[in-house]
Amino acid sequence: MQNYQNPAFLPAGPPPEPRQCFKCNFEGMGTNITCPRCRKNHFLNASSIRTRGTILIVIGLFLVAFMGGIAIFVAALLFGSASQNASSARRLNDEIPMLILIYGIFALVIAFGLNSLISGLWMIATGRRNRVLLWIMWGLLGLLGIGAVLVRAILG
Ligand SMILES: [Zn+2]
Repeated sequence: MQNYQNPAFLPAGPPPEPRQCFKCNFEGMGTNITCPRCRKNHFLNASSIRTRGTILIVIGLFLVAFMGGIAIFVAALLFGSASQNASSARRLNDEIPMLILIYGIFALVIAFGLNSLISGLWMIATGRRNRVLLWIMWGLLGLLGIGAVLVRAILG
């Protein structure tokens, strides 16, 4: 048995490791999931932050591919029908505000996906969560909420 430190000063159980709280963002050394500042059970170590990062990358890639695919598909439909005859081109003209809104929402979802992807890569690389990317995520979610309200207002 090698003892680099006097065992009398070591606490029982697993050794402390760097952790970050996903509720209050407190960072420090800890031995378990309970945050010393906010007492919530979101005080994560680097390996569980990396696991969450991997999940975020999968979600991000899916959102970017899925929304990007839908955006291209819808554009192909619209331009296909508009080039066929003048009346559908005129109808398309009437719907331009709605189309701008819908494409704005597509863009927001794709931005959200990219933000998830970058956040996930950051978490895997550093074992920590990036607060700026988190704020961007909340900002994008807020804009998506506004977009949903606008769509409902136009449709209703
Ligand atoms: Zn906390």
